[in-house]
Amino acid sequence: MSVPAAAASLRIGGLQPFTTIDYPGALAAVVFVQGCPWRCLYCHNPHLQGRDTVPAGPSWATLRRWLVRRQGRLDALVFSGGEPTLDPALPAAMREVRALGFRVGLHTAGLSPRRLRAVLPLADWVGLDVKAPLADAALHDRITGVRGAAPAVRTSLEALLDSGVAYECRTTVHTSLLEADALSRLVDELASAGARHVVLQPCRPLAAGSGMTPTQPDPRQFADLQVRFPPLAMRTAA
Ligand code: SF4
Repeated sequence: MSVPAAAASLRIGGLQPFTTIDYPGALAAVVFVQGCPWRCLYCHNPHLQGRDTVPAGPSWATLRRWLVRRQGRLDALVFSGGEPTLDPALPAAMREVRALGFRVGLHTAGLSPRRLRAVLPLADWVGLDVKAPLADAALHDRITGVRGAAPAVRTSLEALLDSGVAYECRTTVHTSLLEADALSRLVDELASAGARHVVLQPCRPLAAGSGMTPTQPDPRQFADLQVRFPPLAMRTAA
């Protein structure tokens, strides 16, 4: 039987000490976990992709001491990345954060349904990135830079919706990658799956030399989509 990884081995690539947009309705900090096997064309954290990169963030012990000093001043800690569900230390870290009295948020691309299911009972809110229509394998492959990942995301979406955990499905809209028809199909897929918290967000690639320019969702298309699916929302800052 494998021994659960201790929180101390969480590979922390960075810390954002304060945010109001990464966990809706909460004052939160974000810890960025090192490592992601995807290579999304618009990734704004490419320095977090390499799992073997020496993490640039604080140790878990330092982060924990920092959190203790923020008890009563912060509501939540969000685990983001990279892809935090792939770090074996995530469950232990989530438990410790809860024990300190904070709510736990999780950002995930849903690439491992098994690992997501394992941590859903430890999460108070999940932001699931859905990057392309899940029935459009070719487009999903193109945007994520890996082949055949869409079925796993669909399974993660179903697990999240079944779990009862508060959530948001988020889609980054780069208008040259996710054209109007594809975005429309994606919104229909999410609505059919039963998602009721769906947000479109702008694309703000930060990677130098990525060749990607920032884009916003088209407000007119958003308005049309919202007529079909009233829960749809749009975020102007990502
Ligand atoms: S899933 Fe997230 S961290 Fe991973 S490559 Fe895509 S945008 Fe970057």
